[in-house]
Amino acid sequence: MEPKGETKVDGVRMAMGALDCPVCYEPLGPPIFQCGVGHLICKSCCARLKKCPLCIRTAFERCYGMERVVESIEVPCCFANNGCTKKIAYFNKKKHEKACRHGPCFCPEPGCGFTGPVVALANHVTTQHKWPSMKFKYFEQFNLPLEPGPRVLHAPDGNVFLINLTPAEALGHTISLVCIQPEATDSRFGCTMSFSSFPGHHQISTMDAVRSSSLSDGMPKDFFCVVPKSKYGGIGMFLRTTIDNKLVHEDGDEQEDEDDDDESYDEDEDEEEDFGDA
Ligand SMILES: [Zn+2]
Ligand SMILES: [Zn+2]
Ligand SMILES: [Zn+2]
Ligand SMILES: [Zn+2]
Repeated sequence: MEPKGETKVDGVRMAMGALDCPVCYEPLGPPIFQCGVGHLICKSCCARLKKCPLCIRTAFERCYGMERVVESIEVPCCFANNGCTKKIAYFNKKKHEKACRHGPCFCPEPGCGFTGPVVALANHVTTQHKWPSMKFKYFEQFNLPLEPGPRVLHAPDGNVFLINLTPAEALGHTISLVCIQPEATDSRFGCTMSFSSFPGHHQISTMDAVRSSSLSDGMPKDFFCVVPKSKYGGIGMFLRTTIDNKLVHEDGDEQEDEDDDDESYDEDEDEEEDFGDA
C-alpha cells in the first residue's frame, strides 16, 4: 500500500484534552513519554515527576507512535482571517500564534486607531500617513537620509522595521529602530550605523539586539544612537546602515528574493527546539 500524503476526514470529532499532558495540561509535543501501560506525559513533567501521575509505575520511555499522531494533527492559525494560511501542528498552535506575523500591530500615529497585521500596517502608514519606505537586504549597507520622522524598512524575508529620527534640541537627532512584530520575541537582528556629522567626526553605533514591538505603546521611545548636530544642518547627510539577521548566514541567500510572505519563518523557529532523546 502507498503511504498517504494527507487525509482529510469531515465530521471527525476528537476531545482535544486527549492531546494534552495530564499533568500540566499543555499540548503534548515531541518528545512524548509513556509509562509501562501507556499513560502519556510531556517531557518537562516527565523530568520533574519520579512516577507516573496516573499509576505508580516509575519507568518511562519515548512514545514515538503518539509523537507521529500529534505531529500529524493540524489546526488553522487563529489569525486565518488576517491572511495566515498556515496549518500548524496542534501542539505548536500557541507558539505559532504568539509570533504569527498576521497577529495585530498598531498604528503609532497619535489619534489613529488602526490595527492590523504587519503587512497591512506598513501599507496603512505609507498610504495614510505618507511615511516613506524603502527596501534593504540583510548584511548590505544602505544609505538612510538624515530626515526627521518615521520610515518603514522592508527586509527581503517580509520582516518590517520602523526607524524613527527625532530632532533633539541642541543634540542633533536621536534614532530608534524596532522590528514591527505582533509579539515581542528574542531579537534576531543587529544594526550598525556609521556617519560623519562634521569634518573630523566619524561615529559608528551598533545595536546587537534590535527589539521587536507591536507598536501598541506608540512610537518607540528608546533610541540607540544620537547623530550630533552639524553646523551644516545635516542636509544631504546619509547614515550608512547595515541590518543583519542572525538566522541568515552572511554568505547564504536562503531568504533572499522571497518577497512574498515567508512561510518558512515560523518553521525555522520551531526547528530550534531540541527534539532529541531526553
Ligand atoms: Zn506536562
Ligand atoms: Zn501510568
Ligand atoms: Zn499564523
Ligand atoms: Zn494610522
